[in-house]
Amino acid sequence: MAGIAVAGAGIGGLSAALALASVGRTVTVHERAEALEPVGAGVQLSPNACLVLDRLGVLEALRPAAVAPGEVLIRRGRDAAVLARIPLSASRYGAPFLVVLRADLQSALLARAAAEPAITLSFGGGVSAYAAQGRGVRLTLGGPNPGTAAAEGLVAADGIRSAIRRQMTGSSADDTRTSGRSAWRSLVPAAAAEADALAHRSNLWLGRRAHLVHYPVAGGAFVNLVAIIDEGSTAQSGASWSEPAAAEAVERRFAGWAAPARRLIAAAPGWRKWRLADRAPLARWTDGAVALLGDAAHPMLPFLAQGAAQAIEDAAVLADAVAGSSGDLAAAFSTYAEARRARTARVQAQSRRQGDVYHLGPPASTMRDLVMSRLGRDRLVARYDWLYDPPAAVRRFAGGPPPATAPG
Ligand SMILES: Cc1cc2nc3c(=O)[nH]c(=O)nc-3n(C[C@H](O)[C@H](O)[C@H](O)COP(=O)(O)OP(=O)(O)OC[C@H]3O[C@@H](n4cnc5c(N)ncnc54)[C@H](O)[C@@H]3O)c2cc1C
Repeated sequence: MAGIAVAGAGIGGLSAALALASVGRTVTVHERAEALEPVGAGVQLSPNACLVLDRLGVLEALRPAAVAPGEVLIRRGRDAAVLARIPLSASRYGAPFLVVLRADLQSALLARAAAEPAITLSFGGGVSAYAAQGRGVRLTLGGPNPGTAAAEGLVAADGIRSAIRRQMTGSSADDTRTSGRSAWRSLVPAAAAEADALAHRSNLWLGRRAHLVHYPVAGGAFVNLVAIIDEGSTAQSGASWSEPAAAEAVERRFAGWAAPARRLIAAAPGWRKWRLADRAPLARWTDGAVALLGDAAHPMLPFLAQGAAQAIEDAAVLADAVAGSSGDLAAAFSTYAEARRARTARVQAQSRRQGDVYHLGPPASTMRDLVMSRLGRDRLVARYDWLYDPPAAVRRFAGGPPPATAPG
């Protein structure tokens, strides 16, 4: 049989292919698109993701273009008052916190997969359906050369609109939950940005029914800028596709904000808008030797910047389960799903809550700001330990060194 099939060559699918190859499995990746187009602009890669990327041999390739922010600076939108500073240190979790261009991450994963003899990459033909066949699966392939293929197992990393997930759970075509929020994204060239925006830190500005995130990427050549806006009932459900968006709409929405935020928004050369959606946690992630991974399993709102990071964690835990199994792929996939369900459900729920907290208006926002500014550096940092400290199965796969400073 032709090894394990992976549907989708996004961040999740490529990470899964590399992780499975690293534990001795043969993998074929079936990507529906003819070529990978980098969607989005910047991605924050927290230590739980970087630890795995290091083990996959991708981190070194990423480093020259990555920026390692020294802190997260949280400011109030209307007057730029500093609410908190959260230091980001590589030693706390044994891996760095990096921000990168999504295109750089995709290229590094793709180059590594293309160089791996155990991985075959097939573009322009997606997996539209599967059927159990003995202990393995038979795939129905689409694209210009439709047909079927046999595989030992199938990892469905085909994104938030996963066709394989719909077949597995028997759910409707679109069961995503709208958030009522959209993300407007732009890349501001360094020459158009002020020094404040080019400093090596991640910036978060909080306002009523909106927030702003920005950080330098591509070695400081650009500032990745994301404006998240509440759109209430005008935000259509179900979508996460991007579309061009008018600068005036963002500028109008942030008109009352502090000058540095407004100037950065005005410097944006163009915007694309994402309607943000997630889905309630699934009860079922596997069907025999078929397993869901990444956004196909657990799409989440981006307010903890964890969608890609959790897909990368999935890949590590999947490979750890496969390596530790006696060859029964269905059993290994169930072990993987059991290990991942609770953690990813928690990240999904916390991401949704985080958005609500960010967008509070007075008087609740006054209380939030007070708590944040009084919490103190150590307690602020410790609030992220549950997220950034990789779970045991991720550490086992990555074989990473224990953190120099044990998270407390
Ligand atoms: C505004 C915004 C900001 C974000 N910021 C961050 C961040 O800072 N940090 C972070 O960790 N995450 C972030 N995310 C989330 C992250 O982008 C996603 O969670 C992540 O890209 C999901 O990866 P994936 O591989 O599971 O899915 P996708 O990236 O959607 O990849 C799915 C792939 O499958 C292919 N495909 C689809 N159907 C089929 C089929 N039937 N057969 C074969 N192939 C198929 C698609 O063409 C695609 O290549 C953000 C998301 C948004 C919207």
